[in-house]
This record gives sequence, structure tokens and C-alpha cells, in this order.
Amino acid sequence: MTVCTKCGNPKVVITRKQSGQSLCSDCFIKSIEKKVQKTIRREKLITKGDKVMVALSGGKDSVVTLDILNSYRERHVIDLCAVTIDEGIKGYRDEGVRIAVDHAKRLGIEHEVVSFKDCFNIDLDEIMKTDNHRGSCTYCGVFRRWIINRQARKFGATKIATGHNLDDESEAILMNYLEGNINNLSSLGAITTSKSPKFTPKIKPLREIPEKEVGLYALCKGLEIHLAGCPYAQESFRMEVANILKDLSKNHPTIMYSTLKGYDKIKPLVKENYALEYHDGDCEICGEPSSNKLCRACTFLKELGKEVNI
Ligand code: SF4
Ligand code: ZN
Repeated sequence: MTVCTKCGNPKVVITRKQSGQSLCSDCFIKSIEKKVQKTIRREKLITKGDKVMVALSGGKDSVVTLDILNSYRERHVIDLCAVTIDEGIKGYRDEGVRIAVDHAKRLGIEHEVVSFKDCFNIDLDEIMKTDNHRGSCTYCGVFRRWIINRQARKFGATKIATGHNLDDESEAILMNYLEGNINNLSSLGAITTSKSPKFTPKIKPLREIPEKEVGLYALCKGLEIHLAGCPYAQESFRMEVANILKDLSKNHPTIMYSTLKGYDKIKPLVKENYALEYHDGDCEICGEPSSNKLCRACTFLKELGKEVNI
């Protein structure tokens, strides 16, 4: 019979292929928290006195990020707040927003729900009904980043925490590498900073935790999470890369981790030679940092015949 390697409890929730270690629920929870704390310490993701804003969608990754960072808040190391973005996807987003609101309330955290409609006078469902649109995820990513950056300044946050896990990070590394996107590669990593004072540094505390273990942590801790998939999600190059990595992981369980660690070793060299250039300019319409006259959000809105609400 398999028992927990740490405490002998026969109720095992996971056997890690990479190490052969079996863990019960309590020991598994502790192991995840320890691992995240180690990443935070090693990569200097937070400093005492930081105000961290979590981009909280209600999905497992952001809920677990909030839960683990809350232990830092309880120990008075940091202050915590959260933003939830409502893209306006009927039948999908409402449940995620409800779960996010419930978690923020339960923990007593400052929280705001910000919608595409309020900021841009158009939501994603409406955009998808227009002719010649650029595809849902293109708008979603650009508009979401715009809101997150702005909201972080509004909250006075000194860090933005996102829920990227090991699968997300290794996919992004491999995808950018395969596409020859070395400039984008230089901006990945545990912490992303910018020379622009209008950008708040972004941190990824879960970047060394496999996606499956993030889900299991939520389950073991009884955290409610939004499980539904976005109706606009479609086959993409990223998904193909994700499938390659998942396939490889079957016989090589540490492949994602070694992809990440290999990248971390070459990152300083990539950054030195290929970092995206910093343009000291602001968008003429919304005032957000931009290398062109208009930022991408305002460029897209112009195409859609809309303008940002400032
Ligand atoms: Fe947005 Fe849905 Fe695309 Fe995700 S899959 S980026 S939520 S449109
Ligand atoms: Zn703009």
C-alpha cells in the first residue's frame, strides 16, 4: 500500500512521477506553499511593505495565487488587493466574477471588477459580432493588460501578481523560441520590470508549480474555482506547443521544469542583447506608455469606431 512519504498517512493524494514521492493532502499543501515561498525568496518577488494586486479571474491559478499570497498579508509582510476583469462573455464570465468576488470578500481584500464595456464602450461579445475583427484573444490580451496596468496604479500597487504556472511558462518559452521571437523571450521570467514608471512590475509566484498540482492544491484546500472554459478559445499555435510538452512529459516528467531552468540560465544574456527597446512616450489618446502615437488598445478601438473612457 502507498503511504505518504512524509508522515505515513495512507490517504495519498499524489505520487510525483519525477521524484517518486507520495503525499497526503496536508503534506501536499505544505509542499506547494514551501515551493512557492522558495520561488518568492530566491527571485525576490516581494519586499516587505509591498502592495500586491492579484489579477483574479476566479480560475484555479489566480485563486491559488491569492490564497498563498494572503498568508503573507496575514503575517503583515504585504498588503493585498485584487482586480477582476469582465470581458463581457455571456454565459461564461459571470460565474468567474462571482467566485472572485466571494474570495475577495471571504479574505476581506480590497477588490474591483472592471469591465471592457465600462473602459472601452464595447464588450468582447459585441466585438466578435463586428466584421473583420482580429480574433477574440487578440483584443482580450491587449485590453486586459491595459486595464491591469491602469488598475494597479489606481490601487497604488507596487507589484502585480499573475497566476502563470509551470505549464504556462514552459509553453511561452518554447513557443517564443520556436517562432524565433527572441525579443519576447527576453521579457519572460519570474519578475518583469519596465523602465516606464507607469508600468508596475509583474510577478509569477506559481511559475514552478505544474498546472495539475495547482488544481489539486485548490481541491485539497477546498477553494471554489471557476472551471468552465472560454467559448472563444480555439486551436492555436500555443495549444500545439502545449500538447507537445504534455506528450513529452509522459516519458520525461521533468521536461517542463528543465525548459524553465534552462531559460532562466540564458535569460541574462538574452536580456542584454535582445531586450525590447524602451520608448519614452505616451499614447496620445489614453496616456498609457506606448512606442507609437497610439497604444495598441486605442489602435484597436479606433478600428472598432470606439474610444477609451478615461
Ligand atoms: Fe480571452 Fe477567451 Fe481568448 Fe482567453 S480564450 S484570451 S478569455 S477570448
Ligand atoms: Zn491608448
